[in-house]
Amino acid sequence: MNIHEYQAKEVLKGYGVRIQEGIVADTPEAAHAAAVKLNEQTGTSWFVIKAQIHAGGRGKGKVNETGSNGVVLAKKLEDVAEKAKNILGGTLVTHQTGPEGKVVNKVLVAEDVYYPGASEPKEYYLSILLDRATGSNVIMASTEGGMDIEEVAENSPEKIMKEWIDPKVGLQPFQARKVAFALGLSGNAFKEMVKFITALYNAYEGTDSSQFEINPVLKTSDDKILAVDAKVNIDDNALYRQKALAALRDVAEEDPLEVEAGESGLNYVKLDGNVGCMVNGAGLAMATMDMIKLVGGEPANFLDVGGGANATTVEAGFRIILQDPNVKAILINVFGGIVRCDRIASGVVEAYKTIGDIRVPIIVRLQGTNAAEGAKIIDDSGLKVFSAITLKEAADKVQAVLEA
Ligand code: GDP
Ligand code: MN
Repeated sequence: MNIHEYQAKEVLKGYGVRIQEGIVADTPEAAHAAAVKLNEQTGTSWFVIKAQIHAGGRGKGKVNETGSNGVVLAKKLEDVAEKAKNILGGTLVTHQTGPEGKVVNKVLVAEDVYYPGASEPKEYYLSILLDRATGSNVIMASTEGGMDIEEVAENSPEKIMKEWIDPKVGLQPFQARKVAFALGLSGNAFKEMVKFITALYNAYEGTDSSQFEINPVLKTSDDKILAVDAKVNIDDNALYRQKALAALRDVAEEDPLEVEAGESGLNYVKLDGNVGCMVNGAGLAMATMDMIKLVGGEPANFLDVGGGANATTVEAGFRIILQDPNVKAILINVFGGIVRCDRIASGVVEAYKTIGDIRVPIIVRLQGTNAAEGAKIIDDSGLKVFSAITLKEAADKVQAVLEA
């Protein structure tokens, strides 16, 4: 689960990670009030206004309606409301949102931390993520902060250092020092960075996260180290014990079909193809998607209805798949192990009749307990539903539909 920058910064602060201070606002007036309050709290009179969406690249991104960037500086208090107005309610398009962009409902009004001083402010890159290959966490750090890390990895991979952390032992002090040293820091900035990395790692562990990306981490002109941006991804499997974090979920940022599926207990991921599929079991769903590709189709989705498939879940699945205008055919592939095929078949027919106007052919492949009975129910239904017993048979029918 992703959370917004303003939420992520609050969470990090709770673990002692120094952050660029800010206050979230959802109207231009609230943005002005936030700036006034921030001035009282931090003394800052320069502000940065940042669109809150679950996507990066906001600084370079543009709001369709106004042409404003997603991150803008305001050097006067009087400008804050106007600049916030040019972002709020608009559609921000960045290289991570896709061309359709994302509607901005909130802005973070933050202190400008790039103030002049003894030295130039300098941006760094820091992330912590789960490395499945080694079964450990890895800290990635680079002096090329503020840049797209994919670009750095492509053009100058030697500028990214990695330090693997054994989760059983945790981050050792020498490892935090090693990272800070690799970033070329010394003196007070070095000590600050060690503290920053240590607190950040504690936050990563404490929140059951699978990914943290702080880009940029800033060394201010007076050698403070702080998080200017924060992307936090929490492991969904841990949300049951991270109630406070689970409450930060913003469904407005998620695909509406995926939200609807989640509410029906379905595991659905929207894809770009033309064959909708409904399968019981994630492994079988993957195999089904492969099969769709083999016969020249493209899966429109991944959908695992789980072990307890029945008329209600099948109907919910149909409704979700049918909302996707690209769908030309639906393939239902169910293995009747615990669940009986005749029950699934009845469920399909029932759901079909309840929904009524289904505009695409449905191919149902049922295998396992009572498969023949299931096929008979489908064939006798008189509906635009075709049964198949083998995977090959189902694939051929999908192909026939696509080529018709
Ligand atoms: P992203 O574009 O979505 O990754 O958003 P960031 O939070 O990383 O902000 C984008 C860029 O805005 C940063 O890389 C900085 O260069 C700039 N920025 C952020 N905060 C400040 C600030 O307080 N002062 C100045 N001058 N620039 C800032
Ligand atoms: Mn960033």
